[in-house]
Amino acid sequence: MKQFPCIQCGACCRHVNLSELTAYLDRGDGICHHHDTLTHLCRIYEKRPEVCRVDIYYDKHIRQDLSWDEFVELNLIACKQLNELDNM
Ligand code: SF4
Repeated sequence: MKQFPCIQCGACCRHVNLSELTAYLDRGDGICHHHDTLTHLCRIYEKRPEVCRVDIYYDKHIRQDLSWDEFVELNLIACKQLNELDNM
């Protein structure tokens, strides 16, 4: 399984309100409580929740329905859409 091609842009962490899976992380403006807005990094990276661990989340919840490559492709589309929201 190839590694997920995350470029650490932080876009997923700035829009946690848009998914029911991550809405509980919203600090009130759509941004995760744990997101560092200066570095774009996660302040609890080693202890981040399962939903933020793309490989573990895939194994436990998605593998039966999608190949890894399909899952990565769908996630990259979401990454692009979230980045576009930042630039609106
Ligand atoms: S817990 Fe970390 S990885 Fe997960 S959304 Fe928040 S900042 Fe991002």
